Amino acid sequence: MQLLLDLHPDQYPLDGFRRRQLLEWVFVQGVGTFDAMTNLPADVRADLAARFTMNPFREIETVRSADGSVKYLFTLHDGRQMEAVYMPYLDRKTICVSTMVGCPAKCAFCATGAMGFGRNLTPGEIVGQILAVAGGEGLAPRELRNLVFMGMGEPLLNYDHTMQAARILLHPQALGMSKRRVTLSTVGLPKGIRRLAAEDDLGIKLAISLHAPDEETRQRIIPTGHRNSIAEIMASAREYQAVTGRRVTFEYSMLRGVNDHLWQAEELAGLLRGLVSHVNLIPMNPWDGSGFESSTEEEIQAFYDALEARGVDVSVRRSRGKDAGAACGQLALKRPGAAAGAPA
Ligand code: SF4
Repeated sequence: MQLLLDLHPDQYPLDGFRRRQLLEWVFVQGVGTFDAMTNLPADVRADLAARFTMNPFREIETVRSADGSVKYLFTLHDGRQMEAVYMPYLDRKTICVSTMVGCPAKCAFCATGAMGFGRNLTPGEIVGQILAVAGGEGLAPRELRNLVFMGMGEPLLNYDHTMQAARILLHPQALGMSKRRVTLSTVGLPKGIRRLAAEDDLGIKLAISLHAPDEETRQRIIPTGHRNSIAEIMASAREYQAVTGRRVTFEYSMLRGVNDHLWQAEELAGLLRGLVSHVNLIPMNPWDGSGFESSTEEEIQAFYDALEARGVDVSVRRSRGKDAGAACGQLALKRPGAAAGAPA
């Protein structure tokens, strides 16, 4: 049976007024069954239920963090598992969604990378995370106004499904999110970055996980990084900016004694010269067996100061959800015996 959420709103199986009613039930009211759509005639509901399924998940579990963040662990219909994180801030509610089960990028500091790659998520499995988190938090789906494609997976390697999901998020009759509040985070794939730049109807924001300004350190942190040199990544970022006019964010996980030397701050500033950019310094979030530790507060401050002194727009990201294993780089399935590649 087909998952309704995989469809673009323009492809929904009813016409005109009825289609608008159906979209409203799914994306405004956030109902999870056709039965609940009481203003649709019974025969229409029965027909929809015979052809489509609404729920991409077999099971949903949550782990709540003391700071209010919530990790959602989803079991898909094939038994595979992945996660999303809900982060309520004072002024906004943000969701971090996954685009894959596991991840092939294998970043050395990241628990998801250590799991290996399971499979790509479908557009509906990506969008379904938002509806499920909204439901779990007692919110209407449209109250989740900020979204980052920054959970499990490399979104540019699941390109078509991620773009379809983004178009559903932004569609005024679906979730109606603002493109300025949706960010795609990539490990830095020049081909994908150029493709994204050409999606001129989308206009979502780009974040590149650079993590080091020199090849040797970057390859240590991102073993698959050798496929694309830093020079190629930076060239694609410049092209992206030339085409879209948008600022590019660079994510930089602070790893003690690895990428936090002041000469690396200097090199990073050099790479960014002439580009309208922002650097996010992220204290590394520990997990068992990572083999890395976070730079200290003093080391992060010194790196920050060195960047700022060279005119770089920089901030330090406060981590959310550490105690729930929900912070950046910590997403890995906590359930015993669960593996990305193997159905549970
Ligand atoms: S940091 Fe992102 S891209 Fe790297 S392994 Fe983890 S999930 Fe994949």
